[in-house]
Amino acid sequence: MTKIRKAYKVRLKTNDESDTKLVCILGCSRFLWNKSLAMNLERLEKGQNLLWYQEQAWWLKLWKSSEEYCFLKECPSQVLQQKLMDLERAFKDCFDRNQPLKRLPVFKKKGRSDGIRFPQGFRVEGRRMFLPKIGWLGFYHSRAIEGRVKNITITQKAGRWYASIQVELEIEIGRHPSESQIGIDAGIKCFAAFSDGTLVEGPGSFRRHEDFLAREQRKLSRKQKGSENWKKQKRKISSLHHRIADVRMDFLHKLSTEVCKNQARVYVERLNIRGMSASAKGTEETPGRNVRAKSGLNKSILDQGWFEFRRLLDYKLDWMGGRLEQVDARHTSQRCSKCGHTEKGNRKSQAEFVCLSCGIEQHADVNAAMNILTVGLTGMACGSNRNSGRKQEPAGNRDEVLPMAS
Ligand SMILES: [Zn+2]
Repeated sequence: MTKIRKAYKVRLKTNDESDTKLVCILGCSRFLWNKSLAMNLERLEKGQNLLWYQEQAWWLKLWKSSEEYCFLKECPSQVLQQKLMDLERAFKDCFDRNQPLKRLPVFKKKGRSDGIRFPQGFRVEGRRMFLPKIGWLGFYHSRAIEGRVKNITITQKAGRWYASIQVELEIEIGRHPSESQIGIDAGIKCFAAFSDGTLVEGPGSFRRHEDFLAREQRKLSRKQKGSENWKKQKRKISSLHHRIADVRMDFLHKLSTEVCKNQARVYVERLNIRGMSASAKGTEETPGRNVRAKSGLNKSILDQGWFEFRRLLDYKLDWMGGRLEQVDARHTSQRCSKCGHTEKGNRKSQAEFVCLSCGIEQHADVNAAMNILTVGLTGMACGSNRNSGRKQEPAGNRDEVLPMAS
């Protein structure tokens, strides 16, 4: 059995009362962070030793019993302690020689990404959760929460409250039930193309959301920067971004689960991460990536989705006993999947592939996916996503699955 950690991200159903309580707790923990941080920064400046968790906790106790800071009692103690631990971690990371980033912790501002973590005292039952000093809160979620809940982190974004429920699960990784293998290519006209001929469109409501977003962004550009109307429009756009992200994540989860159930091995093109962000033009060997810009769907949204999709495929396949393999996919968009003839002219248009040698006609993306499968089957795969050195960075606010650290 392998222990894994997984986090469910859910939106909370709050009312005025619970809103007020949450805002209060968020405020208290932000206050504590800032106060303890200020204290430590001052000590640093004076050349004194930093106060670590134990000392800070002692100060916390003192503040709580003082008249000035007694409002801290409104906040569950454990939430405050978690904040102090976070601060200690931030300082330790800052002075850790092995960490690439050496930045001092910063003050937290109201409304900036900030969370409160409940390490215990909570309960999760069906689609509701109990939080100390707050009470029961319902939440929106389509799937059941599985596993032992380890902690719950509450955040506020664009006026909505979210909870990230981290659970620990034990799973058995056996043999994949199927022996099927498939090649998948990032489509140009669509989200993805499979070597079996399937073309996957993006989420249905995507285009509509995108049009809407573009319209709202135009409206923003006409407003005076910094004005009340501008701020209002800005909030509207931010919540629209969240909705699009939700729709995308839901789509990616469903699609990746479906693929992982049916395929033991999935081949995808090895991506050049640096190249993708640096050059929109593409190179002679890997043309076509830039073509997406013209396809109508927002390139960055598609590419982001594609990264996420691969990441989901990678770990879901792992759990199922399958495997994601990356292949060197040069010329896959120009090579005929039937006869192997490789020529630029084979590709008549974005969607059309007509081999100049054998004359076969097929969808250009499917042709590329078939080539990827062929490269994979002939043993030219270059390892899984995970071994490519790419760090599995958390997706942040979406359902997130990580292998256990310890
Ligand atoms: Zn051909």
